[in-house]
Amino acid sequence: MSGIGRTCRRQLRPLASALRNTRDRALGGACAVLLYHRVIDLHTDPQLLAVKPLHFDAHLALLKKRYRVLTVEEFDHHLLGRKRFPRRSVLITFDDGYADNHYAARPLLEKHGAQALFYIASGYIGSGREYWWDELERLLLLNEHLPERMAFAMDRVRIAWSAEAGDLRRQAQLAYADQLNVMRGLPAGKRERALDELRTILGPQAQRRSHLPMTVDELKQFTASPSVEIGAHTQWHPSLAQVDEAEQHMEVSGSKKDLEQLLGREVKYFSYPFGTGADFNTVSERIAREAGFLHTAANYPGFVHARSPLHRFPRFLVRDWDEAEFARRMEGFMRP
Ligand SMILES: [Zn+2]
Repeated sequence: MSGIGRTCRRQLRPLASALRNTRDRALGGACAVLLYHRVIDLHTDPQLLAVKPLHFDAHLALLKKRYRVLTVEEFDHHLLGRKRFPRRSVLITFDDGYADNHYAARPLLEKHGAQALFYIASGYIGSGREYWWDELERLLLLNEHLPERMAFAMDRVRIAWSAEAGDLRRQAQLAYADQLNVMRGLPAGKRERALDELRTILGPQAQRRSHLPMTVDELKQFTASPSVEIGAHTQWHPSLAQVDEAEQHMEVSGSKKDLEQLLGREVKYFSYPFGTGADFNTVSERIAREAGFLHTAANYPGFVHARSPLHRFPRFLVRDWDEAEFARRMEGFMRP
């Protein structure tokens, strides 16, 4: 292929994508699946996962006024039945299983008569422990007593700093950013061993109550609400594409079994941890399908239509936007 041909194709790509979207929308309608994580007011939020309760309340009011908020059953009817989605339809989803989903998100969903699909990382439920990325934040970013010298190496986790090399906080911040990437690719056993060791070196600090996952009792009460539908999100939240097939299988099927045992009901839905194209692969898709999940959510922007792939449909990530910003973003999501 010539250089000119390549340039021409590159220029045509946005046009081809727009045409595809227009065709899919004409045939399959469009549903914006929204991805939230937390509803809470936090002092520090390096991953930008938290939406303030005031803002979530405003989001729901706007969604109910201007959009068609689907129940999970309605979403299934259109996606699984390959039926055209209603105009301006929306599905609300949450990942991870933080306790604030029960104490803050659920009551607001109930107030507005809306339902959401909550994907839960089952290993953390009832553990009384922060999710691994939050623990890493606490150990490295919020630690008041960083040692003057650090030389840690275990599996692929490598953390080194020294007071002579400059500002300790700055070096710990860089280590945090690096190790987030490294740790997401480790199987749970190795990640836990590294965290155990880091906990010992960096000093005992209390778990933050604000960052805990739900307890078993909280999850049971939560699930009893008509505003809540439950899906699975692995046991220990790895980047599935970076671990081997046996580990993927254990994480995916294990989370389904864990939740079904806890709740005494079938769990039919799944979402990939992190969910970008680098975090799941065709093996993950097959494992999710074979585990018996009806559909699986990913995390890249795009709308869902009646022809969308069942085991990697897109979602729009929602940040802590005020009402005006959320309204603007929603209109952007709805445009092809
Ligand atoms: Zn997650």
